Amino acid sequence: MAFPANTFAGARFAILGLGRNGLPAARALRAMGADTVLWDDGATARAAAEAEGFSVVDLATGDFAFDALVLSPGIPHILPSPHPVAARAIALGVPVLSDAELLYQAVRRAGSQARFAGITGTNGKSTTTALLAHILTEAGMPVAAGGNLGTAALSLPLLPDDGIYVLEMSSYMLERIATLRFNTAAMLNLSPDHLDRHGNMSGYAHVKRNIFARQTGDDVAVVGIDDALSMAMADALAKEAATVIRISGAHAATGTVALPGAHNAQNAAAARAMARAFGVDDSTIARGIATFPGLLHRQSRVGIHDGIVFINDSKATNADATARALGCYERIVWIAGGIQKAGGIAMLAEFFPRILHAELIGRDGPAFAETLAAHEVPHHLAGSLEAAVPAAYERAKALGASVVLLSPACASLDQFSGFEARGDRFADLVAALDEPHAHNGRAA
Ligand code: ADP
Repeated sequence: MAFPANTFAGARFAILGLGRNGLPAARALRAMGADTVLWDDGATARAAAEAEGFSVVDLATGDFAFDALVLSPGIPHILPSPHPVAARAIALGVPVLSDAELLYQAVRRAGSQARFAGITGTNGKSTTTALLAHILTEAGMPVAAGGNLGTAALSLPLLPDDGIYVLEMSSYMLERIATLRFNTAAMLNLSPDHLDRHGNMSGYAHVKRNIFARQTGDDVAVVGIDDALSMAMADALAKEAATVIRISGAHAATGTVALPGAHNAQNAAAARAMARAFGVDDSTIARGIATFPGLLHRQSRVGIHDGIVFINDSKATNADATARALGCYERIVWIAGGIQKAGGIAMLAEFFPRILHAELIGRDGPAFAETLAAHEVPHHLAGSLEAAVPAAYERAKALGASVVLLSPACASLDQFSGFEARGDRFADLVAALDEPHAHNGRAA
């Protein structure tokens, strides 16, 4: 269902930052009858907005009579320092809101009592969001999922009263909600991330706790207890109105190929608790978990050749994420490299015994080679992914490996436009292993 054309009639919004969220937000708000004024510090983005007939005006000058400022997630309004337009909004008492908040307002203005599920945490947000949406769909409920990843919040459709919005909420979005109340909310885990924007861990935890803001006695708060900060949050929430459900990934594995490892057990536990809170029965939940196809680029199986499984974990852009993947397999041929993060791969040493051989790519392949050499892990500087995949396949066959794992522990931007492009290229190269030329010209 589309939102009525008068949902935001009479409202006036300033929209700063016209990227993945900003421009769709502007389109949606305009279609809902709002008056919009847009700005982006980049000329190309401004031109694109003008081409669509939007009013593009420098929000740092002129009048600022708006009901809200919609700020892109990438633009700060508090730390490290507020964008001048955000500072202006704050000084003038104009609320700074995320598109998720405006979605909530639009749904209520349109008269729908659809319920909201919100998911946050340092890691696992996308997986848990997609898994919960899959389970609820399996249960036959009208579902719309998106937010921080996937469909931008304001691009989601209007759901009927029995519908459920499943929103992935980043800490940036949680800084910018005002009335949004999640019937069921989950905070998965907390580890140091984005501290430039939140000052310190307690500031970061404080923002994450906002996912539970305004919850009532009818609502459910799901909290991971696998780290100390999250456990403390669960204890603090127990004094509030909502029912607190503590979840852990420590005990049960999911047993499904799409959700390997204890980290995914945590994600599945959270999705299960949330689905139960929405009234889904346990057998439907189990079926939903079993049939979840998984998210692309996160330990996804992209092929099997000669019994060797090829796994795309391109989303692992740091060593911490790669640790989760290495912990899931034995007898690994590992493909890694790109632009490394502080500390490189030294922290992965405990997993090195699982690695039979490594093919290294990208700018920091040579740095990884040094670390591996120091630990006597066999490796080869392939340089490119194009060279690494066939080389890894040959090694895997020769060494009797069970998996070829792309989990780079690096950003991709030295060789690719992003982790998605890197993962897609990997999948293409793995598919090409089937073709005759990949077998030295012999007919397959
Ligand atoms: P997010 O959306 O929060 O970035 P994703 O679901 O996209 O999380 O997962 C990204 C990576 O984070 C995964 O590839 C995995 O390495 C790691 N991860 C996923 N879930 C968890 C979790 N519950 N705890 C710790 N790490 C996780």
